[in-house]
Amino acid sequence: MANKQVIIVGGGAAGMMAAIAARRQGAAVTILERNPRIGKKLLVTGNGRCNFTNIYADSACYYCQNPGFAAAAFARQDVPATIAFFEELGIAHKVEDLGKVFPMSDQASSVLDVLLYELNQCGVLVICDAQVTGITPKRQGFTLSTAAGSQYFADSVILAAGGKAMPSTGSDGNGFALAERLGHSVIEPFPGLVQLKLEGSFFKQIEGVKFVGTAELLSGRQSIAKDKGDILFGNYGVSGPPILQISRQAGQLLRNNQPASLKLTLFDMSQEAMDALLAARLAQAGAKTIEFSLVGLVNKRLIPVLLKQAGISDSRRPAAELSRREREKLSGILTDWRLPITGTKGWTSAQVTAGGVDTAEINPETLESRRVKGLYFAGEILDIDGQCGGFNLQWAWSSGCVAGQHAAL
Ligand SMILES: Cc1cc2nc3c(=O)[nH]c(=O)nc-3n(C[C@H](O)[C@H](O)[C@H](O)COP(=O)(O)OP(=O)(O)OC[C@H]3O[C@@H](n4cnc5c(N)ncnc54)[C@H](O)[C@@H]3O)c2cc1C
Repeated sequence: MANKQVIIVGGGAAGMMAAIAARRQGAAVTILERNPRIGKKLLVTGNGRCNFTNIYADSACYYCQNPGFAAAAFARQDVPATIAFFEELGIAHKVEDLGKVFPMSDQASSVLDVLLYELNQCGVLVICDAQVTGITPKRQGFTLSTAAGSQYFADSVILAAGGKAMPSTGSDGNGFALAERLGHSVIEPFPGLVQLKLEGSFFKQIEGVKFVGTAELLSGRQSIAKDKGDILFGNYGVSGPPILQISRQAGQLLRNNQPASLKLTLFDMSQEAMDALLAARLAQAGAKTIEFSLVGLVNKRLIPVLLKQAGISDSRRPAAELSRREREKLSGILTDWRLPITGTKGWTSAQVTAGGVDTAEINPETLESRRVKGLYFAGEILDIDGQCGGFNLQWAWSSGCVAGQHAAL
């Protein structure tokens, strides 16, 4: 029997992994990629260092409307298998804080280089500048058409066209339309791992100010999510790893028109302890103004904003004139600063897509469509997303491997 023809739509992390897996099973494999080169998004991952997996990643770490869906893919390609796969390709690895795994070279480009080398070495055909615009199931196999008017035939198709996050890399959501035209349902996508926009007219003033603290997402009085680390103010609101980690739930609250606010903790102590600290500091402030008495304790650019938030209008008054009530308001803000969330920064800055092709219509063991025989899915196009820290690429590798192996059979 002739080799099975497998066509992969999308040369991202999942598509490249699927291609290698299918080729290693003996299929004739072609990647159709709309960009002039494959792997564009991979180059920007991990701030250019590619956090390619996480030693704590397992199937329970993912959001999906169908919990447990990822388990079978992880049973086939788990984290040790991913690390071994890349070690074999030449990527020496190192584990950093919170289990994040990076190439020893600290270069995302080195991860792409070894994947390109392997694709070439094992004989995968890569066709770039080929945007797939139609996938038509035939009695036997599929025909795929591109924007340039070319047509291709495949026995099996793997749809690995990504989600909608960072559309400048090529994944702009058109894969969802392709899936829908093949009869699949798409759970409404929204940006995950994204910066948060906050209410307030002072953000331009504190743009670039960074602190190590806690970010907690609240809906009314209910705590929804919390994370700690480097938090950075932008002219729109906040970013930084803890913000990205809680952003999915924030986006979900906003979509459901539920109240969403952010509690920032600049000083990790009780309000009483903070108040005592401020009282002692003010007592020693001598002739200093209220504003100046905080220099050395709080970032200088934050001081006028925090004082204003505490309702302290004339901050040039002598420190001794700060009333107990004013001081208590200030210690309250330093330990519990509430800011209404007005939105997320949207698709252009998001790192992942929440939502996507409904996994209820997909066989978890093979990632084959339950609607169209011979059609497979891999990567972010599916309704699966993980936290920041290497989890999303791990899903791309696990799902790519499973889809590739089964599409080739
Ligand atoms: C800034 C940033 C940093 C990130 N950092 C990390 C990190 O450090 N660790 C981590 O785990 N995750 C990270 N992620 C997430 C991770 O990169 C993605 O989840 C992962 O790359 C998804 O892989 P994919 O192959 O499913 O999709 P993509 O990488 O988006 O690939 C899809 C490909 O399909 C192509 N395509 C789309 N439509 C068509 C079509 N119709 N025809 C032909 N080709 C098409 C696209 O051009 C693209 O090349 C980051 C994301 C961003 C945006």
